[in-house]
Amino acid sequence: MAELKLSESRDLTRIERIGAHSHIRGLGLDSSLEPREVSEGMVGQTQARKAAGVILQMIKDGKIAGRAILLAGQPGTGKTAIAMGMAKSLGLETPFAMLSGSEIFSLEMSKTEALMQAFRKSIGVRIKEETEVIEGEVVEIQIDRPAVSGAASKTGKLTLKTTDMETVYDLGAKMIEALGKEKVQSGDVIAIDKASGKITKLGRSFSRSRDYDAMGPQTKFVQCPDGELQKRKEVVHCVTLHEIDVINSRTQGFLALFTGDTGEIRAEVREQIDTKVAEWREEGKAEIVPGVLFIDEVHMLDIECFSFLNRALENEMAPILVVATNRGITTIRGTNYKSPHGIPIDLLDRLLIITTQPYSADEIRKILDIRCQEEDVEMSEDAKQLLTKIGHETSLRYAIHLITASALNCQKRKGKVVEVQDITRVYSLFLDVRRSTQYLMEYQKEYMFNEAAMDDGGED
Ligand code: ATP
Repeated sequence: MAELKLSESRDLTRIERIGAHSHIRGLGLDSSLEPREVSEGMVGQTQARKAAGVILQMIKDGKIAGRAILLAGQPGTGKTAIAMGMAKSLGLETPFAMLSGSEIFSLEMSKTEALMQAFRKSIGVRIKEETEVIEGEVVEIQIDRPAVSGAASKTGKLTLKTTDMETVYDLGAKMIEALGKEKVQSGDVIAIDKASGKITKLGRSFSRSRDYDAMGPQTKFVQCPDGELQKRKEVVHCVTLHEIDVINSRTQGFLALFTGDTGEIRAEVREQIDTKVAEWREEGKAEIVPGVLFIDEVHMLDIECFSFLNRALENEMAPILVVATNRGITTIRGTNYKSPHGIPIDLLDRLLIITTQPYSADEIRKILDIRCQEEDVEMSEDAKQLLTKIGHETSLRYAIHLITASALNCQKRKGKVVEVQDITRVYSLFLDVRRSTQYLMEYQKEYMFNEAAMDDGGED
């Protein structure tokens, strides 16, 4: 019984959430940036993927700053999927920040502060730190054992022979532990990282020593080998400008990094940080890694945000901005003017525009196949054909949603493979947009605030 419980709980921890884009693992391009028909979870949309690949290459080369790309196309044509593919193809060191246009209105900070934080989340700083590593032969390890046995605070001294001199190091409990772990004895050649105090045993010189643990206080072995070196080792830390901002914005600011409760960050703090980073860059200690900022539903931004973007793109540290929209010619929020995609013309003029196209039935079928695999759903050929037809006539998103729902229906009737009956059942349970609209038209009088009715001459 106990065993059964254990295995049950293990199975539970294995359940992972599957997101809308979890099947996307990259852009699916070959080494010459040509899109493969089906690769890394991506299907079709070859022109757009190829264009995104060129941008990706520019980002990887790290030479351009402040470029912006607009992904424009009908709903469900893979704009977000392409942005996700770009994110997955970037190295771990290149930051990728994502924001939905509507999010900036719900945060507890001004719109421009939210955008500023998003910008700085997508600018990386590679900080190079040189640490000194000293290599030499252990001449003596002296540990002062505390009078009361069991007391925690051991101290001691380590004498290391380097090229022409002996250096004595004070040992703290950590270093003593490290010596013990590496089983260091006098006569061993070791490396000490001066910054972290890390000890590594490299080998053994000639020696007649005893194990350091067995040594009493003040035991001295003086043996002078030839070998020793002083090296410089480079340690690289990658952080974003936003992380540096948050850490410096208040005492214990690093805690805010975990809670996300960053609040507004004062302009002076950012100025100081920019000056410091500029100094590091001049001294060759740091490099800027411009990443990618992706803003989905960009038409939800308003005129203030758009002028902020215009200005922010001019900064030499600016990341690559990728925005996406499914809107046609519409009003720019915060104005009475209409513009393509609801984006002001001056910003549009800066954008490289990539368009996405509607999918063919064959492409829909391939995407559905990939999603079935991702969701671990087995589906019969007939059911897949029917679902493809539904996807083609309604929308890809609706068909993708029906995979999960039909699999649940199949589970309920204790089936193993999703059949046509499961698809038809969920198709009748859940309406797609067209059927829902049709329903509304039929019963419009019974709904509140019905504008269609008003247009027909008001309520009668
Ligand atoms: P909207 O304008 O409504 O935001 P969108 O263009 O951003 O739509 P997505 O969300 O990218 O559309 O696509 C809808 C679903 O279809 C997602 O689950 C996405 O992962 C999947 N999908 C879209 N295009 C592709 C593709 N070419 N290959 C694989 N999956 C895709």
